[in-house]
Amino acid sequence: MSLIVQKYGGTSVGSIERIKAVAERVAGTRKRGEQVAVVVSAMAGETNRLLKLATELSDSPNQRESDCLVATGEQVTSALLALRLEALGCPAVSFLGFQLRIATDSNHGRARIKSIESERARNELNKGRVVVVAGFQGVDSAGDITTLGRGASDLTAVALAAALKADACEIYTDVDGVYTADPNICPKARKLARISYDEMLEMAGLGAKVLQIRSVELAQRYGVPLVVRSSFNETEGTLVGKEDKSMEDVLVSGVTLDQNQSKVTIVGVEDAPGLAARIFGPIADAGIVVDMIIQNASEYGHTDMTFTVGRDDLRRALEVIERIAKEISASGVRHEDQVAKVSIVGLGMRTHAGVAARMFSVLAAERINIQMISTSEIKVSVVVDSKYGELAMRTLHDAFLENGAGAVRA
Ligand code: ASP
Ligand code: MG
Repeated sequence: MSLIVQKYGGTSVGSIERIKAVAERVAGTRKRGEQVAVVVSAMAGETNRLLKLATELSDSPNQRESDCLVATGEQVTSALLALRLEALGCPAVSFLGFQLRIATDSNHGRARIKSIESERARNELNKGRVVVVAGFQGVDSAGDITTLGRGASDLTAVALAAALKADACEIYTDVDGVYTADPNICPKARKLARISYDEMLEMAGLGAKVLQIRSVELAQRYGVPLVVRSSFNETEGTLVGKEDKSMEDVLVSGVTLDQNQSKVTIVGVEDAPGLAARIFGPIADAGIVVDMIIQNASEYGHTDMTFTVGRDDLRRALEVIERIAKEISASGVRHEDQVAKVSIVGLGMRTHAGVAARMFSVLAAERINIQMISTSEIKVSVVVDSKYGELAMRTLHDAFLENGAGAVRA
């Protein structure tokens, strides 16, 4: 008998009707003879609604209390789903994070899972029950409720699948799978049948919202095969798994767009050892994640440094940088908050030259100016004016992915 972990996201359990539909699907899987553990998110919009309540009462809500509050969203859906399954004659039992000892550190709001005691879930599964687990939450060593970060029900699902050594982890959402680009922006985007963990990691990190990035990391580490599919239809989804030879034949698997970027330049920095550390140390200490960094060639012993940060972090980054700029006698700080990052991702880049050059010429043909470039083994990213973000994405998609254009023919 195989064991499957199924995770249902917020829109999949967003109403009573939806919970009924999910219960039917789970009961159906159980009837086919599989053991099923289900992880649920809160009903769509619920986590935001709860967080808003907190901010109406406090400017900076206490994080322990905040976790206690938002964890209720998943408590509701896990109990509702379990009781619906029972009503359908499918034995089920719900568990909150602490009941399964989903042990985490004490970083409220972004806790990390340390371990899961899978025994209790295992026993219930062996008794023939469906186990329904509240996603997104855990418990720290003091016994306090923690949450794992936004979108982290995916992480609960993967961690549970790893702990139970499940045969697969299915992530049910409101899209049919992983697409070559956001179909809302690229009408020609196609669903991928398969994608490697590495490509998915890049895509999740670059703005594709379908899977939470930490869950992909964990799935890769434990070799948990992930299937992303819709709970609204029967379409087969996308398998995210280990790479194989054939994947390297595909030059570009996807194009991503991140419209939430901003750019900061610190001008006239002395070109001397230790300066980069002086600048980026305090940024890191402030918990701000910097993405691309460019240092210009120096002239007369001075250089400019430009980096990108998420737009939400811009204000804080500027506060830090303006202080540092004075300390190191830089000549000034400039910023731009209307920039976008457009990227192409594909395993084939490892073995095929010229992909970046082709990307640049495609953008040049549209007269889109490239402000910054960064590359890794399997991706090329450029920063452009945000006005051109969508155009850049569509053009690159057409060039690399239209009609199998991405496939390399020997
Ligand atoms: N309910 C949580 C959130 O909205 C976790 C999740 O949906 O995965 O972020
Ligand atoms: Mg969600």
